[in-house]
This record gives sequence, C-alpha cells and structure tokens, in this order.
Amino acid sequence: METLAHTPEVEETVTSLTEKELYRLCCNRWKEVCELFCRKLGFEVEEMTGKNQRFFLKKKGDNTILAYAKCFKSWNREITVGDLSGLEKRMKMMGVENGIIFTRSGFSRDALDYAKGKSFDLITVRVLLNDILKLKAEEIREIESLARKIFFLAPCCPQCRKPMIHANNQVGGFWRCSNYPRCNVTYMN
Ligand SMILES: [Zn+2]
Repeated sequence: METLAHTPEVEETVTSLTEKELYRLCCNRWKEVCELFCRKLGFEVEEMTGKNQRFFLKKKGDNTILAYAKCFKSWNREITVGDLSGLEKRMKMMGVENGIIFTRSGFSRDALDYAKGKSFDLITVRVLLNDILKLKAEEIREIESLARKIFFLAPCCPQCRKPMIHANNQVGGFWRCSNYPRCNVTYMN
C-alpha cells in the first residue's frame, strides 16, 4: 500500500512578541513580565514591600537571588558601575550572594566590564526575549499575553491617544507619551 507522502508541518509561530514591544512596556508591566519569566524558570518570587523594582528569587536548594527590574529607558540612561556597586552593597547587606538586573536601558561598557566574574547577571531586552523564546509554547504565550495586556492604570495621551508611560525624575513621578519623540506630551503624576 502506498503511504501518503509526508506533508511537512507548517512551523507554528509561537509568538510574535518583539524587542520593540518589550521596550515600550510601562515600568510596572516590565517588572511583571520579568517576574513571570522567573516563575517559569521555577523560581518563587518574593516581593520586597515598598521597593517595587526589587524582588527576591528563591529556588529549592539554590542561593536566593536579589533581582532588580531597573529601567531608565525614558531618560536613555544606561545602567552604570555605580548602579551595580549599589546592587552589590544591598546584596551584602541582605546576605544574598547572587543578583540580577533586568533592564530596558542597557548597560554602559564600564558596567559590562565591572560585572565580569561577579556573581550577578545583566539581562537586556534582547537577552530576555531570547530566553523567553526557549520556554515551552504555552509559557511563552502566557508571557506574551501579560506583556500585551492593557495597563488599565496607564492613561492615554490626551493628544494622540497612545498609552502614557510612567517615569521618574529627580522631582518625582510623571507621565510621558509612548509616542515620543513624535509626541512629547508629559504631565505630572
Ligand atoms: Zn501623545
């Protein structure tokens, strides 16, 4: 009997999540995506009260990790050696040996050099997306839908209707349009 020729399966696209989308997340959603990713790697995520950029990652039999979802994207400011030594100090204070910084801002060359041989990981958007894509299909979809969930607390720009992004400067929190530089609407919190 003649067997049917094998029809090659069309490779299913698991996600169309892009680096650009991850760059555009508001700070809170960025942190949520990082946390969900860590949970998918088998970590328990423990919030630090009042420090909403920091969280602990715990896994049975492993050292606790102090994680930061730190972003200066709105100011185009890279993570510096100063930021990393701040992380180190806190790790020491808390008796934690390992650290991770998830950032959309990127790292300065000095910071990358500084981190070499140290016990912390520097995770950029590109690295995160790459690692997300190594997860199981349903886990990837879960992260994708979190990343794409409308952030109901974020207002829309009164001028162009694009979502506003929450950012911080020396004076405090404020909202800026995600459509920047085409639209430069900002307003105070
Ligand atoms: Zn706008």
